[in-house]
Amino acid sequence: MSAERRTALYAAAIAAAVWAVAAVFSFTALGGQFDNNVYDFLFRAAPPAPVASPAALVVFDERTFQQHGGIRRLRANLARVIERIAETRPAAVAVDVTLADAGEPSEDARLAAAFARTPGLVLACEMMPDGSGWQDPPEPFRRHAVALGHVSTLAGPYDEVNRRITLERVAGRERRWALSLEALRVTSGAADILASPSDVAVGGRVIPSRWDDGRPLRVRYAEGGIPVISAAELLAGGAADPLAGKTVFIGVTAISAAPDRLFTPLSRGLPMAGVAIHAQAFQTMYAGAFLVDAPLGLTLLAALLAAVLIVGALSLLLRWQGWALAAAVLLLAHALPWICFRQDVVVSASAPAAAAWLALFGGGAFRYFFVRRRLEASEAATQRYQQAFHFVAHEMRTPLTAIQGSSELISRYNLPEAKRRELSDMINAESKRLARMITTFLDVEKLSAGQMELRLGELELAGLVDSCRRRAAPLAEKKRIRLTSRVPDELRLKADAELLEYAVYNLLTNAVKYSPEETEVVVGASAENGVVRLWVTDQGIGMDESEVKQLFQKFYRTKRAEQSGETGTGIGLSIVRQIVELHEGSIHVRSAPGQGSTFTVLLPAR
Ligand code: ADP
Repeated sequence: MSAERRTALYAAAIAAAVWAVAAVFSFTALGGQFDNNVYDFLFRAAPPAPVASPAALVVFDERTFQQHGGIRRLRANLARVIERIAETRPAAVAVDVTLADAGEPSEDARLAAAFARTPGLVLACEMMPDGSGWQDPPEPFRRHAVALGHVSTLAGPYDEVNRRITLERVAGRERRWALSLEALRVTSGAADILASPSDVAVGGRVIPSRWDDGRPLRVRYAEGGIPVISAAELLAGGAADPLAGKTVFIGVTAISAAPDRLFTPLSRGLPMAGVAIHAQAFQTMYAGAFLVDAPLGLTLLAALLAAVLIVGALSLLLRWQGWALAAAVLLLAHALPWICFRQDVVVSASAPAAAAWLALFGGGAFRYFFVRRRLEASEAATQRYQQAFHFVAHEMRTPLTAIQGSSELISRYNLPEAKRRELSDMINAESKRLARMITTFLDVEKLSAGQMELRLGELELAGLVDSCRRRAAPLAEKKRIRLTSRVPDELRLKADAELLEYAVYNLLTNAVKYSPEETEVVVGASAENGVVRLWVTDQGIGMDESEVKQLFQKFYRTKRAEQSGETGTGIGLSIVRQIVELHEGSIHVRSAPGQGSTFTVLLPAR
């Protein structure tokens, strides 16, 4: 498998893992709480502009209870308030007060009479705690109501904040619509509320609310849109005119007497009373200001896109563009809930955000620890191969030029016999040199591929070293370097003569190449316990420890060697080591910068 494909495969695996973790995270309580917080934040950041509302709130607040006999007098006061409201001809009146049990007969009678005079009366009903049926107002009240609406709200999930109400509830096989929805029906003069699996229609309005989700409605809370009038004001004879033609919601907001209070995205410390929530829900439906949940698939797709784009960018774009694209996607993943919210669509914020951050860390680590390292290594290798190639091409050009020149001279001119001889000898020598060079390179290839066989034979080491010394002599003479041999004459061993000569010659020429002028290079050998020890010592530029460690890698050259002006390919030593290892021996280096080096080869004597 190619490196690119492997990278792409790993990246895909990381993106998939990131996506899976992010998706699971979005379903945890932590993810849900995160979504809630983002939702509430967006709500506060982009509150709807206050509009003149068709609804109005008449509330039994602290003031009303203080001035008019508290909760004990609620029914009597409610009757008086309703009478005042009925006079103004409101569009509808929704009463969010539990009237399930019978009260004081005269008060109940007055309240029933007030209800009788109220147009579009909607009364509250509550579900029995065990869900077996509905707690409806007693018949004398109920008779006058055009509808009954349930007053359940929804908290959470994961917290006590009300963001949605449920439009439809069923108890004991009997369905009730929400108080706010019934109030809307009455206000718009519709006879029925029509339900389909995906929405609820009333009087020409279609309210998106899925049946299989429990028919939720996201309440678009707004501040200041719905006028609030204290019941105390009406009881004290204050003007009721602002209520004319409105849909009036009546309920208790006094903290001491309203148990159905919940926080909303807009509440700052003080929870909102149930009746206010119903009025807000009514306003939401009336204005058609719906917030629709994005399908789960879309959220997961957004998370997948974020993961794939970020991990992909970090592992495939290896310059700054990778980080730039990743940052842009990260930003977009966070902006997505905001962008969607502006389009009245609610998207889970946790899945794309978690996917983006995890992808950033996962992809970033992958890029740093794997992709970059691999790229750097392969770039360095390519560069070394190119250098080697240039060197080889250059080295071959020298004999070729000589051959070309000499053969041209011979064919063009009528040269004296002696000169012709000299030139053809040169051609012969240079083509042999070329052939040798090619053979060496081919051998190197074979050696690298492990295809080279040893042709072992008994040999005298001193003779072999002498031959190398002779060959290296011209090089040494140029730098006035003394080549000394301390190889005992009697030292014999079994080895591949050609390969061993190649190795010794390489060590020798390296010693000469990397030594300053007028120094000494010594070759020595000894035999002990069946091991032949051969060493080459110079007084040259030397190497530090980290350089010594990399010395035998193909194409490796030290900085000092590069700066010395000596040409080289960095292949020689890697071949030397292979040759030594083929002989089941080992090679060791002792060196220090500026203090010379000693290469020691240990071979079995056999
Ligand atoms: P080349 O000599 O063609 O560069 P080699 O594989 O023979 O390649 O050597 C690899 C590198 O090892 C050299 O480039 C040089 O940096 C270092 N080296 C080898 N021998 C010596 C030495 N005797 N003294 C200092 N450095 C050496």
